[in-house]
Amino acid sequence: MIDFRSDTVTKPTEAMLAAMITAKVGDDVFGEDETVNALEEKTAALFGMEAGLFCPSGTMTNQIAIKCFTQPLDEVITDQTAHVYRYEGGGIMFNSGASVRLLNGNRGIITDEMIEEEINPIGNVHHPHTSLVVLENTVNRGGGSCYFLKDIEPIYHLCKLKNLKLHLDGARIFNALAYTKDEAKLYGNYFDGISVCLSKGLGAPVGSVLLGSKQTIQYAKRIRKVLGGGMRQAGFLAAAGIYALDYHIDRLQTDHLHAKQLESCLLKLPFVKRVLPVQTNIVIFEIDDSRDAEKLVNQLKEKGILSGTFGKQTIRFVTHLDISKQQIEQTIEILSLID
Ligand SMILES: *Cc1c(COP(=O)(O)O)cnc(C)c1O
Repeated sequence: MIDFRSDTVTKPTEAMLAAMITAKVGDDVFGEDETVNALEEKTAALFGMEAGLFCPSGTMTNQIAIKCFTQPLDEVITDQTAHVYRYEGGGIMFNSGASVRLLNGNRGIITDEMIEEEINPIGNVHHPHTSLVVLENTVNRGGGSCYFLKDIEPIYHLCKLKNLKLHLDGARIFNALAYTKDEAKLYGNYFDGISVCLSKGLGAPVGSVLLGSKQTIQYAKRIRKVLGGGMRQAGFLAAAGIYALDYHIDRLQTDHLHAKQLESCLLKLPFVKRVLPVQTNIVIFEIDDSRDAEKLVNQLKEKGILSGTFGKQTIRFVTHLDISKQQIEQTIEILSLID
């Protein structure tokens, strides 16, 4: 099976497993796991942030960040496609007691102007208090679309002016950086919180790191414990993360090339109506109204290709570490033969 369902399906490489097995570990709830500490410091330094917190998932890092940056009855501004809103089980309302104002961005990319219009006036008892903006980079439902730092800068200035916190869901931040060529270290100048996933394109089996100021991370640690995310000898997992940061960032270009190759193939197929222009490792395409995405996905599955539907006529392919050049060629051949 060639598995394009998600970049979460990767298995650790032998070298990554070796790094995991030999990791020095301790009780991380006591702060004594040196590998976890090293991962947190390394990731924070990479993005120019003060501190990091290793968590079991990106959902947890996002939810903790939102909890840190809001009070109950506050409101969060984000795009309508945002993972924090659509794919975290309503966690914002449950964990933080906050409401969400959704914007209609361009492939999930929102601007300072759009945000400014939706900030509630302060001191009017009718309105929830706007306190946080969440961006996603890359945007999953936007088909891997990217913010450049120059797009983020005006949003940062608006947030400063209006006293709002700014959080980045960077589940695929390294894919965004590979595309934009922006410097990771500069990100720390713009965001109060950043979620970095190790288990997506980077190929670690588990884990995300929340980045923020020392003060934010101190409180975040308390929230992580409350959510049941305080792990003990987690260094075995953190070692995979360190390995991924050292060896799996540069190769993301290969995933992007593979996604481009799929895009070119899809554009030539008569039943494909539209492909969201590929920037990173996600390919989202629409098929003719006469066709059904679910049926096509099943048809592909019979031929050994796993993909996912993203609506009645929409399908998503994600490229990743465990997809080879040969598998891309094979997929293109199979797609070309679909009638
Ligand atoms: C995968 C993903 C996350 C985190 O997901 P987990 O499965 O909880 O690690 C967060 N944001 C986006 C955009 C994602 O794609």
